[in-house]
Amino acid sequence: MEITIKKADTLKEHPDDSSLGFGTYFTDHMFVMDYAPEKGWHDPRIEPYGPMEMYPSSMVLHYGQAIFEGLKAYHTDSGGVQLFRPRDNIKRMNRSGERLCMPPLDEDFVLEAMLELLKLEKGWVPKADGTSLYIRPTIIATDPYIGLRPSFTYRFFIILSPVGAYYPEGFDPVKIWVTSKYVRAVRGGVGEAKTAGNYAASLYATKLANEDGYTQVMWLDGVDLKYVEEVGSMNIFFVIGDELITPELNGSILSGVTRDSVIQLAESWGIKVVERKISIDEVYAAHADGSLKEVFGSGTAAVISPVGNIKFDGKEITIGDGGVGPLAARFFNDLTAIQYGKAEDPFNWIMPVG
Ligand SMILES: *Cc1c(COP(=O)(O)O)cnc(C)c1O
Repeated sequence: MEITIKKADTLKEHPDDSSLGFGTYFTDHMFVMDYAPEKGWHDPRIEPYGPMEMYPSSMVLHYGQAIFEGLKAYHTDSGGVQLFRPRDNIKRMNRSGERLCMPPLDEDFVLEAMLELLKLEKGWVPKADGTSLYIRPTIIATDPYIGLRPSFTYRFFIILSPVGAYYPEGFDPVKIWVTSKYVRAVRGGVGEAKTAGNYAASLYATKLANEDGYTQVMWLDGVDLKYVEEVGSMNIFFVIGDELITPELNGSILSGVTRDSVIQLAESWGIKVVERKISIDEVYAAHADGSLKEVFGSGTAAVISPVGNIKFDGKEITIGDGGVGPLAARFFNDLTAIQYGKAEDPFNWIMPVG
């Protein structure tokens, strides 16, 4: 398929690298294509970033049939731009899409489209330490229809946002809040899909956590309200004794690309990684007997996010001395070194943007 390009008449002024924040600024162009049953995915185009026309009856607005992805492009010291495991994101998008009854994407074509857009927007990849260009591929249901069924038509788009460090505190430990009242996903639900409704479902508990002085919610499973699943929109790791433990993928946990990268790195360092159920009671017991050494989250936005404090059932514990643990620091340093092209990439994770 030929991608048509319509360039913006006027280009925006770039924000200062030091004031980027997360998800506030968007580049000059976006990639868009549409789906109709008789045409398949068609009309792939790069056009100026701007408002999109849609009907108020568009199905996505009523029934939440929407999926997205998140990955980053990094500026390297040699002046290049590179992606981290982009194929894994595109594959996951197809898994999310299947769960949400959406038509599959051609993975090679989506990668080609992403690279084409990035080549055009290369100048938008910020250069300051810790900054990157966040890439947000999305699919929405566009049928103008308010009865419940999967949409027949869809729109796929990719937008780009230059971003600073995800957490305002930077690479500092976060305080997390555990709730046994609210859940983000349930057994048999859509927790493992990157679909809009999961995030809507997480807002209320996150608001309560924020009001109590905590940054993120640690989600427990939706069946027993006992086993740890994720933190905010990150996967979660515990260092207990000399093991690195992370909840096993059970259908309600999002299968993070960063999670998988942490597991592969840890194994390459000779660290024992265990994917299994871990209850919040076990975490508190390990803290009480001194074997809980570190807790950290993993995700594209934050890469690694050390956890300093956890509050559950009115009891707050401090992990280690409340600072950044050595393993969290090592994962952060090694992963970001690969992402920014400062270290070898023995895993073949990097893809240069032509
Ligand atoms: C995106 C996401 C993650 C992290 O996935 P990465 O591929 O590592 O960015 C974890 N949990 C949830 C709920 C997510 O949406």
